Amino acid sequence: MKYIIALDQGTTSSRSVLYNARLEKIDQVQKEFTQHFPRPGWVEHDADEIWETQWETLRTLIERNGVKRENIAALGITNQRETVVAWDTRTGKPLARAIVWQDRRTAAFCQALKRKGAEAAVRRKTGLVLDPYFSGSKMNWLLKNDPAVRKAAAEKRLAFGTMDSWLIHKLTGGNRHVTEAGNASRTLLMDIRTLAWDKSLLKLFGVPAASLPEILASDAMFGEATLPGLEGVRINGVAGDQQASLFGHRCFTAGSLKNTYGTGCFLLRNIGAKYAAPPKGLLGTVAWTLKGKTTYAHEGAVMIGGAAVQFLRDGLKIIEDAAQSETLAASLPSNEGVYFVPAFAGLGTPHWDPDARGLIIGLTRGSTRAHLCRAALESIAYQSLDLCRAFGGAIKSLNVDGGASQNRLLMQFQADITGAEVRVNRSHEVTALGVAMLAALGCGLVPSQQELLKLDLRLDIFKPAMQAGPRKLLVDRWRKAVKRSMRWAD
Ligand code: ADP
Repeated sequence: MKYIIALDQGTTSSRSVLYNARLEKIDQVQKEFTQHFPRPGWVEHDADEIWETQWETLRTLIERNGVKRENIAALGITNQRETVVAWDTRTGKPLARAIVWQDRRTAAFCQALKRKGAEAAVRRKTGLVLDPYFSGSKMNWLLKNDPAVRKAAAEKRLAFGTMDSWLIHKLTGGNRHVTEAGNASRTLLMDIRTLAWDKSLLKLFGVPAASLPEILASDAMFGEATLPGLEGVRINGVAGDQQASLFGHRCFTAGSLKNTYGTGCFLLRNIGAKYAAPPKGLLGTVAWTLKGKTTYAHEGAVMIGGAAVQFLRDGLKIIEDAAQSETLAASLPSNEGVYFVPAFAGLGTPHWDPDARGLIIGLTRGSTRAHLCRAALESIAYQSLDLCRAFGGAIKSLNVDGGASQNRLLMQFQADITGAEVRVNRSHEVTALGVAMLAALGCGLVPSQQELLKLDLRLDIFKPAMQAGPRKLLVDRWRKAVKRSMRWAD
């Protein structure tokens, strides 16, 4: 009996998922961790807490299923992308809190680079835009503002990494400082064509080359675990969460696409083996590097998707759990004119405005928490509609997954507002499955991608049922609300 274990290190929780050799899910353990918001627009994670929750879920999974070390064919890692961890190579300990992808503290720095005219070259080289979202400006901030990071850099004991690097560092007892190409393509520091750190970009962001990990293919041998009970187990597949989901949906051919409804929403379309510059508002990214061949994707990114619901739960405290948002929203026949633009972390595709901020508009004396729930859920669908539009052309069907895709009202509204058939993966966990597939290929448990196409993934299908007229009225109003949220924190 052989197993694959996927470590799925998301923005809000760490998960470990056990698969058998046929890539059927056997069990899963999940643990949420703390979100730190030390100042408006700042979002941090404690890298130690992330590791502890990840390790706890892995240990529990192994113990409660009686999994023996020798039966684990490989570990796969999928992770929240762009978030930056800085650690000390001598002690192996974090030097600062991790700066999360949603964090906006480097907006002014990015703006200054734009004013210097740096954006065109950066976009040509990386496929990205100069936005605080990506890792490079976060590393620059730590080097400039955190004395411990600066000192470690001066003494050549600084390691930077995205979450994949940090987990591999912890799993291998500090033996390996490596990253995966798709993750590296989100830093603003890697040349997307050569898959190597680029000297001029390192200079632009002031990041010393010695602090960066080695870039490896998605199916590489990333290292061997040294943890008690896992000694010698190979890490054989790594991908950022959105890339892993694209793979899990088996979007293997150019043109195939998926949208994930997690903390944010991310629509990725496979563009094949040849890199092409993305259309305006979209990003170019490495999808994966597999068996020596790189596949690229175009991507649209929404910063706050399911996190809008989390805000209702934890910020406003008007719901007990995420699922309650559906019951309350369904108690209304429509949004009754209330719109919520959750631009807490600025806006991504297609606006790329780091200074946009959240707004709720259209409130009347009759407005209740049900209106806020309805408007929050609808905002996830409107933002995803804007992603679809940025890709151009009509999208007839959309493969989807992620925590918020469990919300049936949201999925039906998504179908209505886009006019596309929405195909929801019933497991809602395509990210973990995707990296389990990569690890299974990496360690040879599954011989080829063709084999993966035979897996039977079960779907719930939502068909559009709204007329064009009412749809247009709703979307026009949404556009108006978005305009009012923009450049607020400028
Ligand atoms: P991540 O990998 O980014 O941590 P997940 O795919 O685990 O995200 O999804 C978690 C997100 O999904 C949270 O932001 C949560 O608010 C949202 N979510 C979970 N269940 C529901 C639901 N029933 N309705 C709406 N949103 C939900």
